Amino acid sequence: MSRFFDETLHSDYRQSLKIDEVLYDNQSDVQHIQVFQNSRFGRVLTLDGVVQTTEGDEFIYHEMLTHVPILAHGAARRVLIVGGGDGGMAREVLRHARIDHVTMVEIDAGVVEFSKTYLPRLSGGAFDDPRLDLVIADGADFMAQSDQHFDVIIIDSTDPIGPGEVLFTDSFYDHARARLAEGGILVTQNGVPFMQPDELTGTMRAFKQLFADWGCYIASIPTYAGGPMAFGWGSQSPAGRAVTPEQLGERFAASGIETRYYTPAVHKAAFGLPAYIEKLLP
Ligand code: SAM
Repeated sequence: MSRFFDETLHSDYRQSLKIDEVLYDNQSDVQHIQVFQNSRFGRVLTLDGVVQTTEGDEFIYHEMLTHVPILAHGAARRVLIVGGGDGGMAREVLRHARIDHVTMVEIDAGVVEFSKTYLPRLSGGAFDDPRLDLVIADGADFMAQSDQHFDVIIIDSTDPIGPGEVLFTDSFYDHARARLAEGGILVTQNGVPFMQPDELTGTMRAFKQLFADWGCYIASIPTYAGGPMAFGWGSQSPAGRAVTPEQLGERFAASGIETRYYTPAVHKAAFGLPAYIEKLLP
């Protein structure tokens, strides 16, 4: 009898992934952590019954939450990642040779430790990079107490359930705004609007109050079921979203980074929203 993992994120809709082999299944101080092998997506990480990332499609999510803000900024040096315990986001950020400092604030040391063991391809050596400063803490506390400034801040959190809930609050976004250097850009994972409209509207309402330039962009990730995922965008400067395709092309070429999803054309197109998502913006 084949075993399947049934995701429990939505009460009326489920995605199921066949489990070829369970590699890890344990409760950490913070969450229930599972890793299993699936013939189509490779190794799959779930936290509290929700798919977080898979080896098969993680490149889409990680490339769109890193290369879009970093290449839009054009001169980023210091990056802050909140969450991202699997190391995939740090991997993509550290591919930019001009980035000289990355702080990653992850609440669950257990996610980092087992990701190094069971998902080494995701981090791809990022945890050994001397530019990375790994902090095990609640991202909300770090954001409220830090006096550092960053050119790009990436919120790679779980959904607003359990430990991730505080990362979707107005006070967290207000503290994040204060941590941005001049011309800095904040990007956030905001769920799949067709399935989780509130996860986007709440953030957009806050960004409208806090930022001169705000909005969202999208990309479809197969194991984030229900259509395109939305990524929040907030900045005090309009320059990041006004960057031309030509400028993006030059910056992307100069970075020397090869990608599997990101292109300058995909970057610009990602800010073109379908009407049902546009209607969710205040
Ligand atoms: N891409 C995934 C998604 O869209 O659902 C997120 C992947 S990443 C594994 C999410 C990380 O956020 C987890 O490692 C989790 O421990 C971390 N996290 C959740 N709440 C947090 C908090 N308050 N502060 C810092 N990290 C947090």
